[in-house]
Amino acid sequence: MTECFRCKKALTADEIGAYMKLVNRGAREFLCISCLARDLGVDEAYIRQKIEQFKKSGCTLFG
Ligand SMILES: [Zn+2]
Repeated sequence: MTECFRCKKALTADEIGAYMKLVNRGAREFLCISCLARDLGVDEAYIRQKIEQFKKSGCTLFG
């Protein structure tokens, strides 16, 4: 199981995909939405909205 490398929360495929799209496509460790939002200086809703956009555009990082 993949965990957030900061808070150790278990990650969903969406969170991993979002991290890859928004931070680093080649990442091997990932942040959960909460930690990622804090790092990017945005709120979680913004990231969830991005995830929906990526899914709609058929991005293969999202199952
Ligand atoms: Zn976290």
